[in-house]
Amino acid sequence: MEDKRRLLMDRSQPGRRGTTLPLCDVPESALPNARHLRDNLPMPEVSEPEIVRYFTHLSQLNYGVDTGFYPLGSCTMKYNPKLHEDAASLPGFANIHPLLEGDLSQGALQLMHELQQALAEIAGLHRCSLPPVAGAHGEYAGMHVIRAAQIARGQGHRKTVIIPDSAHGTNPATAAMCGFQVASVPADGDGNMDLGKLREALAGGDVVALMITLPSTLGLFDRNIVEICRIVHAAGGYVYGDGANLNALLGRVKMGQLGFDVVHMNLHKTFTTPHGGGGPGSGAISVSRELASFCATPVVTFRNGRYQLETPDKSFGRISTFHGNFGNLVRAYCYVRMLGAAGLREVSGNAVLHANYIQAKLKKTFGLAYQRHCMHEVVFSPTHFKKHGVRSLDVAKRLIDYGYHPPTMYFPLVVEEALMVEPTETETKETLDSFIEAMEKIADEVRTSPQVLHDAPHNSPVGRLDEARAARQPDLRWRKAV
Ligand SMILES: *Cc1c(COP(=O)(O)O)cnc(C)c1O
Repeated sequence: MEDKRRLLMDRSQPGRRGTTLPLCDVPESALPNARHLRDNLPMPEVSEPEIVRYFTHLSQLNYGVDTGFYPLGSCTMKYNPKLHEDAASLPGFANIHPLLEGDLSQGALQLMHELQQALAEIAGLHRCSLPPVAGAHGEYAGMHVIRAAQIARGQGHRKTVIIPDSAHGTNPATAAMCGFQVASVPADGDGNMDLGKLREALAGGDVVALMITLPSTLGLFDRNIVEICRIVHAAGGYVYGDGANLNALLGRVKMGQLGFDVVHMNLHKTFTTPHGGGGPGSGAISVSRELASFCATPVVTFRNGRYQLETPDKSFGRISTFHGNFGNLVRAYCYVRMLGAAGLREVSGNAVLHANYIQAKLKKTFGLAYQRHCMHEVVFSPTHFKKHGVRSLDVAKRLIDYGYHPPTMYFPLVVEEALMVEPTETETKETLDSFIEAMEKIADEVRTSPQVLHDAPHNSPVGRLDEARAARQPDLRWRKAV
């Protein structure tokens, strides 16, 4: 069988040509600095079909949501409708320059204005700001809004941000980047925030804000959230909502009405703008009426029949070049307009149903940290596999052999052996069933043939990498086999 993994250099045959260049029709001249030129530069000599097959094969090694089920928890990999790509590539959107005069960019500004309104409405808040270009960047913008508001009310000395210990790592990182200290609060036995511990953390009068994810990264809806917001406000703090993944709440729960002051949404997760490989992203934030004038510049407003860019009165400043990742905004706008209010509500209904279907089918085999219904994602905790010498990492690697992208592993940090599955609303029941079947087969293998799991993945181009070393010392150079 042909070894598809063979590198291009190893396929080289002296004298074989991929292309034939036309005869030179300009006078030849010697290259400058001839002493720097190498005579024996090894270049692959391959035919055109070989090189086409080689690169086509490489392109197919990429796993994406268009190739298969991608149950990555906390990082929503839902299907990205292709219609959005058509809209984003309309010349009026794709070729527009951010410095174009307002008169010539009314359409783009209108789209941004309507998206601002839609996202603020979905969040149940007053104003939306589109410039942040990632979820973490939205957190950073949102915490700057809060800091500016605290300073404006003479509370600039406050330094503590309270964060649940299950939080996404970007939350404490953001607080630190803004110069705050983090006070971590654990969950109670049910997975809700421990209210006693929250009151203790608030007691010193130093709290800037609580940063909290809803549903939590445990996949659970905190039943005390209204009370939590009330307590934090009473202590002079604001409530920051990490709404990176809004799949459980869309069209059902407005975070502003629960008491949140600021919420960021990852348009590249919840609102189907393709992501992975580090971007582009969008972490639009929505804020309460009280905080609206502190937002980053610019916001789009509509006055005297014209859309325009404005700087809010007490803006904390600029957070990105120009207006954010416009292409993401077009796609998110399409998503919201295509679904409408009823469609968004259906999204959250199916997202939660799918996660609970998987939870119900697999909870006996894989174990749960908290025995209750989940929201849009389910966190398993298969600690009982350890007696067979099997860890969650082994399960994740074995799933690759079954053709699935692994779920999120070892996050949230507070759940032992966490395997976090987010099926998303865009999958069919058949897909969920075959994933469940693969998981059950793997659970059988844990008992009968654990070595198969330790050796997995078996069919991928590389097996288990030393991931830390691979990132720090990537092996990118071809060397002649000896
Ligand atoms: C993904 C995520 C973030 C960070 O978003 P990025 O776009 O990766 O910066 C923050 N919080 C939660 C809960 C997330 O899932």
